[in-house]
Amino acid sequence: MGAQRTCVVCRRHMDQEDGYCVVLGPDGSPALDVRRKLPGRGAWVHSTSECLSGLGQRGRLNRAFKQPVPIPKGADGDEPWPLPLVREWQRRRQRELVAGGFGAGQVRSGSNVVQGVLVSGWAQELALAADAGTTVASDWGKKAKGYELPLHRSQLTAAELGAAMGRTGLRSVIALGPGPAAQALSLELKRGLSSL
Ligand SMILES: [Zn+2]
Repeated sequence: MGAQRTCVVCRRHMDQEDGYCVVLGPDGSPALDVRRKLPGRGAWVHSTSECLSGLGQRGRLNRAFKQPVPIPKGADGDEPWPLPLVREWQRRRQRELVAGGFGAGQVRSGSNVVQGVLVSGWAQELALAADAGTTVASDWGKKAKGYELPLHRSQLTAAELGAAMGRTGLRSVIALGPGPAAQALSLELKRGLSSL
């Protein structure tokens, strides 16, 4: 558990791992500190689409920072700031972490392999591709439930999951085993905007 913060949108207490910190740049424009490295005082927000889409509304950031904060405008028809940025960031981050976890031997893929590591007890969590169909999702949902393991929905498609692991084929499900690389991926999947 990290330090407790209050979400500026829903006003509920939140763990730092469940969201993002907004900081102001030198010109006073807001930026999401997705890598948690920017200096300055921050305002915290949950990584849910509800809280993120409320971030630029009702002068919430003006109040949080006690100064006028210009909200970046999205293109017409786009989701409000900062949702498109967060989605893009999460996709990039998940790709890195799947690749890293696979390289470290802490992420495995392929239906038979995943089935095997479920039975052996190695798998700690499962994640589905963003485009895994309802039949596949309900199949793995039942298995995850049977083994009492969390099941996530990745932001990456089956082709992207395969590519992240250097494979040409589709990978609609991955298993996360023990280890820090798999743990880092698990945290990112938990705060991912895709949900089951
Ligand atoms: Zn919130």
